[in-house]
Amino acid sequence: MENFNEFFKSILRNSGLSLLRDLNIPEIRQIISKINEYFYTNYEGIGYTYELNDYYEYFSEFHKFWEKYHKEIINPRIDEISCEKIANVLHNLYQEYGKKLFYELYETYSLQPEDICRIRYFSANQDFRGTRSFKDLFKKYIDDPSIFDTFNINNNPEDFPKNIKLTSLSQSDKRVKYASVASQILIEKNITPYELLSYTNNDILKLRNFLISNTGSGFGSKKTDMFLRDMVVLGVWKNPINFDKIDVSSDINTIKVALRTGILKTEIPLISSFMDIFCYQYGVIDEMNALAWRKVWSIWNDKFPDECIESPCLIDNLIYRIIGKEFCKESLCTFECVSKKHMFKWHSSRNKTCQTCYKNNIRNKAHVIKKVLPCTDSDGFIVIEKNKYTSSSSPLLPGLKECPFVPVCNPKNNNFKKLNPPKSISILGQTGWESAKTRREEGGGGLMS
Ligand SMILES: [Zn+2]
Ligand SMILES: [Zn+2]
Repeated sequence: MENFNEFFKSILRNSGLSLLRDLNIPEIRQIISKINEYFYTNYEGIGYTYELNDYYEYFSEFHKFWEKYHKEIINPRIDEISCEKIANVLHNLYQEYGKKLFYELYETYSLQPEDICRIRYFSANQDFRGTRSFKDLFKKYIDDPSIFDTFNINNNPEDFPKNIKLTSLSQSDKRVKYASVASQILIEKNITPYELLSYTNNDILKLRNFLISNTGSGFGSKKTDMFLRDMVVLGVWKNPINFDKIDVSSDINTIKVALRTGILKTEIPLISSFMDIFCYQYGVIDEMNALAWRKVWSIWNDKFPDECIESPCLIDNLIYRIIGKEFCKESLCTFECVSKKHMFKWHSSRNKTCQTCYKNNIRNKAHVIKKVLPCTDSDGFIVIEKNKYTSSSSPLLPGLKECPFVPVCNPKNNNFKKLNPPKSISILGQTGWESAKTRREEGGGGLMS
């Protein structure tokens, strides 16, 4: 607490400020300078913090404070009442639409389990961020399986990101290292990716800990949980022990839904990434998010053990892919016609035409004047019923007109807040905290895009 006190009092001390009059420019100048100094500058001797297996000089005095107190300040907590409401909704969906809602994954082109495992093992740690479909990787394997050969990757790790066309993505030296370490693990243990589970005696939790403990392989908790879940859902590994110990793979979509449904609550709205130095807020929210979804699952599993999914990690398909990425985003657009005579709501912002004029065979342009979450609007069905998950040839949620979480979020109520997930600035790299550092007396610093 100490340094924040010192900073705040130093602004007031000897300043001659009074609540009875407005501030003048020299006073405001002084305050801005002090704020900048405290949050965004450091000095010789400020000290070091330990992150990513290394020591880094503190970014600022605030960084020291934030490292110690971020959790207390944000105070994230899991709301059991909301968790139970969500658990009930999930159980209802399970009854109405069946288990496949939680198991749907991608096409694997009748590849053998050993092959699927190999492809996913070497790509899961590379984190595609949805920029590329895994289907493409399966096709690449069919074209040339040697790309995914353990010894090939180990001998030429720098070729691997190129071979799977990852070079356009950032952090290429990190990716080479991931490929190298991930192949080295298999060579040392003399196993194939498929044999990883038998190596840990069919215990998937043991395997999870084994993968995460190998630093430098790229298998952090998020990517590991995603890989392990996929292997079970795709039927590569059958009935592993401790599958229920694998958490949902936390990301901004699952966090967003957790915040908006209220299963995860914070004392204040999340702070901007500009203040979240070294991503401490992101880290704690990420961790609490996985626990919140685990709580939802355990309530569901306790109430309806015979009508429940086997592990919290299986919530992912519905929460991340369908609700997070499709329903819970501002996709209901209000358009205005260039003639200014019509307004209409539409499911796609890519539309360029006045659909009202078009019905009368008149071509007029229209532009978006407002975008809202479909759940907050009585015409939200316009978006939901056009979605691929409700209306393709064999949809997972046929006939659905509204996000199933509406009864929990109460989005049409005035109290509803469209809470946003945290963003993170990385520690290293061109756009990271390390490159944003500056000394007090030197000024400047910060990030450039
Ligand atoms: Zn019109
Ligand atoms: Zn909603």
